[in-house]
Amino acid sequence: MMKSSLKYIFPLIPFLFIACNKKKETKDIHSENLLVFPTGEKITNGNFTGTAYLQMLMDADSLNSISVGNVTFEPGARSKWHTHPAGQILLVIDGVGYYQEKGQPKKILRKGDAIKCPPNVPHWHGAGSDKTFVQVAITGREKGETVWLEPVTDEEYHK
Ligand code: MN
Repeated sequence: MMKSSLKYIFPLIPFLFIACNKKKETKDIHSENLLVFPTGEKITNGNFTGTAYLQMLMDADSLNSISVGNVTFEPGARSKWHTHPAGQILLVIDGVGYYQEKGQPKKILRKGDAIKCPPNVPHWHGAGSDKTFVQVAITGREKGETVWLEPVTDEEYHK
């Protein structure tokens, strides 16, 4: 009886080993909190309040009329109010941040969130006041460049 059941269990042992190792590997990647993309260069164009960094990942071309960039906001940093003529999609890579459309309450964004900024709707995005925020911005380019508006005041930011 004992002998015959072992006959069935032994061939399964290598598979159990593979399953356990795979689980451990996935856990290590998450617990080390590795950043996905490079931080890039400090943004100095005046369209941001506080310290933010940009790493362009993809420029628009004749096949794909979108650009893709990784933006890292230090705590309290945020964009000015702005609009995108062809809209934008934000993928949150790390940290906690905010997204707000004009006339709407601020939304809290967390790692793993994805959000759409509709075309020509004034909005801003940035970090929480005590958290770094990393987002990948996918921006439609076929209808022109981002239109930069006024800075987000401290009152608007903290509201
Ligand atoms: Mn935007």
